[in-house]
Amino acid sequence: MTTVAPTINAARAGAPTTTMRAAVVVTSGQPLVVEDVPVPTPGPGQALVRVIASGVCHTDLHAARGDWPVAPKGHLIPGHEGYGEVVALGDGVTTLEVGQKVGNAWLWSACGVCQYCRTGWETLCEQQQNGGYSVDGSFGEYMLVDERYAARIPDGADPVEVAPILCAGVTVYKGLKMTGVRPGEWVTISGIGGLGHIAVQYARAMGMRVAAVDVDDAKLDLARRHGAEVTVNATTTDPGEAIQAATGGTHGVLVTAVHPKAFDQALAVVRRGATIVFNGLPPGTFDADIFDIVLRAITIRGSIVGTRQDMIEALDFYARGEIHPTVAVESLDDINDIFERMERGKIDGRIVMTY
Ligand code: NAD
Ligand code: ZN
Ligand code: ZN
Repeated sequence: MTTVAPTINAARAGAPTTTMRAAVVVTSGQPLVVEDVPVPTPGPGQALVRVIASGVCHTDLHAARGDWPVAPKGHLIPGHEGYGEVVALGDGVTTLEVGQKVGNAWLWSACGVCQYCRTGWETLCEQQQNGGYSVDGSFGEYMLVDERYAARIPDGADPVEVAPILCAGVTVYKGLKMTGVRPGEWVTISGIGGLGHIAVQYARAMGMRVAAVDVDDAKLDLARRHGAEVTVNATTTDPGEAIQAATGGTHGVLVTAVHPKAFDQALAVVRRGATIVFNGLPPGTFDADIFDIVLRAITIRGSIVGTRQDMIEALDFYARGEIHPTVAVESLDDINDIFERMERGKIDGRIVMTY
């Protein structure tokens, strides 16, 4: 069996060896409790990581509220944009070493052998574990990763800037690929929050022209700063009319918004033959006209995070200086306040907590 404490002591003299501070969902729908919990022990194939920074994704808020049909684990430590340093290895780990910089991810592990894993769709694996949902995540001073699925962080990455790539970045990069929009064509990014403001940057880096929709002018300013050519505030202007007039209808849409209304509106902004990709996960349903979808040959598809290969590619865009998430640094003790601002749509870019 693995002995954890000596390795932690070696890596970080004076660090607590058996307990750590973490933000925990004790009761679904109630504020998180910042408390001392045991430092986890890495099992076979796992590594213990000292977390240095963690982004706060809207998914963490959905998890804390119990918004979705599949419930998270009990006494959950959320967080799936965790960046840190490996401090101890479980049995049999050969591809990670102590001191290496890694990230956890929503796709914390998968079975590796099912039809989805075999065909490049490991994100659909029915045996997958999800970081900060079915297994504990990065809202604590230490976390576990699976050596096969941990993201390898490129050298020179800024801990705070790179953290949001681990979920927001890889998710929108994959989602944009799924739109099939080609260089020089238009894409609408609907929802310019943590995911959306990074989506604007990936879209530009992939050669796309960007129209942005949100319900808050500050978010639209952010979209323009990151390269959006057309911006629409859906509370004052009809996105369909404005985007059709400015672009002739976009070739694709990526919906990252947290209100179902944005999903209905996606159909109005596209030209014929377009692909609409849903990333956002607000509870609820959307309204769509069947005749319109058939006659205009519109494709609507969901997209969930990305594979390990998508992660490598998304991190490579970052490493080459193409992507600069807008981030503000806060601490674990701020988590309930961060969630409250997130709920009101009052966060520009991403909040990253450092420990
Ligand atoms: P966020 O809170 O940072 O941003 C949400 C944005 O949506 C805000 O800018 C808000 O102003 C905007 N918005 C709200 N109502 C809108 C409307 N009617 N029209 C347009 N914009 C509107 O959230 P985030 O972290 O970017 O996450 C967004 C969503 O994506 C969440 O539901 C999250 O769970 C989901 N998500 C999905 C995946 C995936 O793999 N599919 C991965 C990560 C997050
Ligand atoms: Zn996320
Ligand atoms: Zn599988």
